[in-house]
Amino acid sequence: MRRFYVNPFEAGGRWFKGNVHTHSSGSDGTRTPEQLVSMYLGAGYDFLSITDHSVVTDVGGVDGRGLLLIPGEELCVGRSHAGTHYHLVGVGIQETLPFRDFDYGTDPQRVVDEINGLGGVSVLAHPYWSGLSHNDAMAVDALCGVEIYNTSCDYERNTGLSASHVDGLIAAGRRPLIFAVDDHHGADRPTMPVDACGAWIMVRAPSLDEPDILAAIRGGLFYSSTGPQIRGIAVDGEGVIHVECSPARTVSFISTPSLGMKFHAGGRPLTSASYPGRPGEKYVRIEVTDFEGRSAWSNPIYNE
Ligand SMILES: [Zn+2]
Ligand SMILES: [Zn+2]
Repeated sequence: MRRFYVNPFEAGGRWFKGNVHTHSSGSDGTRTPEQLVSMYLGAGYDFLSITDHSVVTDVGGVDGRGLLLIPGEELCVGRSHAGTHYHLVGVGIQETLPFRDFDYGTDPQRVVDEINGLGGVSVLAHPYWSGLSHNDAMAVDALCGVEIYNTSCDYERNTGLSASHVDGLIAAGRRPLIFAVDDHHGADRPTMPVDACGAWIMVRAPSLDEPDILAAIRGGLFYSSTGPQIRGIAVDGEGVIHVECSPARTVSFISTPSLGMKFHAGGRPLTSASYPGRPGEKYVRIEVTDFEGRSAWSNPIYNE
């Protein structure tokens, strides 16, 4: 068996931390782009994509003070089996998408094709929160990725984790990249923390230039996290997958339905795990969870 994995841990360059789903006062966010810059810089981020609803907010005149600002947009279209919209995010597009927001009549495929055609990264946002089944998600082809975790949906509704949607898609033959994002809006409520700086991607790229970051994201050279670090992933000559990570309660190798394996910490935290795989698996993805319940997610490793 041959495994196929675009391995960020074997790529040159440096690590850059970023969030690719954020709202500003350009739509329904409470913070201006300048305020977002201060908040994300303060939390050690390297880049941020402002993805306002139905408009590409112009970030050209905003002083990032070292934070790379990437333009983007979120659009809500189509109709799921539950009667809800698909929310689609385009990261790295320069112009507002030519569709009406909240239009049941617009095929989400047209939006994905438009984002891809503009050179953007197309991501299906928060499928669990949206009420999509993975069959709804299967109706859209050529998606670059899917949000496996969304801070805002988690904090507000406890529907931030879309792992089963991701695995349903992959088990059915799609190859999405896996994103953890904030979807920051900033509604400051006494009952919930601010939905910022809670989830991110760690991208391996040669530089913090926008083309390098977008190419690395599009190529899958990243992992996602809400806390833990993945410090290394390697596939040896026998096809055994080795992972190293910050101290963890569990390390899971999630795979084709009914296969895969979960490792639990014994007397001391896990900082590594190795998994040889099992017959019949089509893919394996790694999920590391720490003692606070925070997780990190690799992109999938495919068997070929
Ligand atoms: Zn949304
Ligand atoms: Zn959003």
